Amino acid sequence: MNTTADLIEALRGVLGDPGLITDPGAMAGYVEEQRGLYRGNAPAVARPASTDEVARVVKLCADAGVGIVPLGGNTGLVGGGIADGQVVLSLERMNKILDVDPVNATMTVEAGAILADIQAAADAADAYFPLSLGAEGSCRIGGNLSTNAGGVHVVRYGAARDLVLGLEVVLADGRVWDGLTALRKNNTGYNLKALFLGAEGTLGVITRAVLRLFPKPRAKAVALAGCGSFDDALQLLHAAQRLAGDALMACEAMNGFSVELAEKHVAGAASPLEGRHECYVLLELGAADAKADLGALMEEVLTEAFEATAVEDAVIAQSGPQADGLWRLREAVPEAQKLEGGSIKHDVSVPVSKTPEFIRRASEAVQAMIPGVRVVAFGHLGDGNTHFNLTQPVDMDKQAFLERWHEVNARVHDVAAELGGSFSAEHGIGRLKTGEMARLKSAVELDLMRAVKNALDPLGIFNPGKVLPPRK
Ligand SMILES: Cc1cc2nc3c(=O)[nH]c(=O)nc-3n(C[C@H](O)[C@H](O)[C@H](O)COP(=O)(O)OP(=O)(O)OC[C@H]3O[C@@H](n4cnc5c(N)ncnc54)[C@H](O)[C@@H]3O)c2cc1C
Repeated sequence: MNTTADLIEALRGVLGDPGLITDPGAMAGYVEEQRGLYRGNAPAVARPASTDEVARVVKLCADAGVGIVPLGGNTGLVGGGIADGQVVLSLERMNKILDVDPVNATMTVEAGAILADIQAAADAADAYFPLSLGAEGSCRIGGNLSTNAGGVHVVRYGAARDLVLGLEVVLADGRVWDGLTALRKNNTGYNLKALFLGAEGTLGVITRAVLRLFPKPRAKAVALAGCGSFDDALQLLHAAQRLAGDALMACEAMNGFSVELAEKHVAGAASPLEGRHECYVLLELGAADAKADLGALMEEVLTEAFEATAVEDAVIAQSGPQADGLWRLREAVPEAQKLEGGSIKHDVSVPVSKTPEFIRRASEAVQAMIPGVRVVAFGHLGDGNTHFNLTQPVDMDKQAFLERWHEVNARVHDVAAELGGSFSAEHGIGRLKTGEMARLKSAVELDLMRAVKNALDPLGIFNPGKVLPPRK
């Protein structure tokens, strides 16, 4: 095979017309990211319908020396799924739920299954798959596992990495690794599965997965509390952890400005609390026992925090729609921020107990750099993961503000690192953060990662230019 045209003909031979797109217009949705930060290009989009077809596509591309970019729902937002001359390998046709085993509490799925469909299939089997994020209607499980997606329930169930028992992966030479085990105990050598989880498509193509299911939470309670500071919010979280234990399913926080923006810009987003607060905390409790009195448990948590003066005001939702309204307020924040002008964003994590210190120090640092910058800090307090976003000063030119992006990012990431934190808690590295990998990861860690990459993908055909920074 000498030319790209030869490769495309060979791919068409394997995939047929429905499995291959070469028209530039039809490829647009596969090579551009929704927020427009990355626009790529590809000779073709391969849409295999089976693991065997994926393996044959990989083999053909490897033999032709052409790279491959695996693609799920294209919601990653860090450029990880955006091709730069490589063949895009979309998993969208491999979207089936293959098996649900309620007693083993597992579900076997194809990598292109949409997260919301997986949640619905678990629900139909009277079980629960807890991964839940804003993009769940379009992101696909292969993408979720490849980015180790987090979302709102990590505090109780862990991230995507914790929700998978087995994987099937197509390797760089076209062989298939069948690690599709449904075992909870399996001490037979290295944990190969772990290599592919969070690898962002740089080590192999995940084609199938065995996921863990959990008892459906039949009782729920949701509350919103107003606190005087993030330190107080942390005290409330601690009360919830101690008193509610495993029933604590979500603990989200928003600074006062986040709530102000949500109320200003998003219809239906409103805080039901009296007055204004420095920090708002959304707590969700859940239990499999439908008779569990979680309202009473929530009240106990809030009362303890109130007596310790950690809570200024709080409301417990009295109905499903009221609970949805509280979640709406939290979910409205990113949308609202967009409408307030230019944003510089960070997705950092620190040890949970250091969240208030991180927010304080990072806020001081960015104020010193850009006086008048407005901090929109919100996120998953229960996991120490803050979306530390910044909105431009009211009277600053948007472009001038956005030009400070890298400089501000570096300062904020340094604050996180000083507190033992990470510069990417959820979305991964993709293309966007390879510079920060080079700057903030140790030489030893980068060497180990490169050794893994070289062992599994010696020709570098999977997702070149992503995750690992170029050698200096
Ligand atoms: C509104 C919104 C809210 C979000 N909220 C959250 C959140 O709360 N938590 C969170 O963690 N993320 C969140 N995200 C980010 C995003 O949804 C996740 O990163 C998600 O897991 C990506 O899945 P995807 O199918 O869209 O993957 P894609 O964007 O298609 O791909 C992501 C990466 O995985 C690789 N990949 C995809 N499929 C495979 C496969 N089968 N095998 C190997 N590699 C593969 C790609 O090459 C790429 O590097 C949000 C995004 C949006 C738009």
